[in-house]
Amino acid sequence: MRLAVLLFVQTLLFGQVVPKNINATVKKIVDEVSEQNIIATLKKLESFETRNTFSATDDPIHGIGAARKWIYDQFRSYSPKLEVYYDSYKVKKQPRVFRDVEVVNVVAVLPGTTNKDRQVIVSAHYDSLNRVSKPGTPDPGEQPEVDEEKAVAARAPGVTDNASGVAAVMELARIMSQHQFEKTIVFVTFAGEEQALIGSSPFAVKAEREKRQIEGVLNNDIIGSEVSGNGRSDNNTVRIFSPDSRDSTSRELARYLKIAGERYVPSMKLAIIFREDRFGRGGDHMPFIAQGFPAVRITTASGNPANQHTATDTFANNSPAYITRVTKRNGAAVASPAMIWC
Ligand SMILES: [Zn+2]
Repeated sequence: MRLAVLLFVQTLLFGQVVPKNINATVKKIVDEVSEQNIIATLKKLESFETRNTFSATDDPIHGIGAARKWIYDQFRSYSPKLEVYYDSYKVKKQPRVFRDVEVVNVVAVLPGTTNKDRQVIVSAHYDSLNRVSKPGTPDPGEQPEVDEEKAVAARAPGVTDNASGVAAVMELARIMSQHQFEKTIVFVTFAGEEQALIGSSPFAVKAEREKRQIEGVLNNDIIGSEVSGNGRSDNNTVRIFSPDSRDSTSRELARYLKIAGERYVPSMKLAIIFREDRFGRGGDHMPFIAQGFPAVRITTASGNPANQHTATDTFANNSPAYITRVTKRNGAAVASPAMIWC
């Protein structure tokens, strides 16, 4: 009762009451996340028709080359503070890589102030895949093998998987680059995720070799849909995957993300899943975990596998409002000055 009176008096004196544990800058960042921008990014990434890792690199309108140049130019346009570069690797032919290929990640670094050497990575993969299968019946529980050569020519709009994650990363890069943070924040869009993580793996290996202090990787993959195949919708939950043990740094990061995110976006609950990733699946957080860095996968609670890795993974089958709220959650966690997990 006494608290209610106090709040009432505060409201009279100061107008809106800002709770003590809400940081004004973080709140501003969260409020600035724009659904309209996210919609524009999803539609633009869909317009490349495919972002298959082996698709055209010299076509100005279609294919992965045009897509990465567009992402690069967008990062450059946000702020002169962002250090933007292509991070490329020559990958040899191997299982799931049907020919030699240059894999190009697009990176935007926002240098920190007092703790420049400590880094937080916000990532998503921008490549897409239409899983054209080879003939034959797979073993029970296995997916059919991809005919990579045929997949290159197939339409792969990849809006849920994973323009949704890229839209989140780009929107946070745009907003956060208008501010300064103690730690360095690295925004990365990876290629080659669909070919067994051939973009993020060499990135993580190099980071370990250079003894980089990566204190958390927030990998956004499939955050676009809120209606699952059976029609069930859980649009107030996002899942976060982190590996055992209970005390692993990745699990600590997951707990931190839950607390910080729910503080600023209370309507969006975060479900901590005690696994590295979904059964039989993987993502770009895994190479970082393998190198000893704390890393998590952020993904929808209601995915629809029928639309993944097909020509129907379109803008129409996504929910920009859901992506916007997940982006706000991530922004709150990364911008919070405490970053109490490390
Ligand atoms: Zn994906």
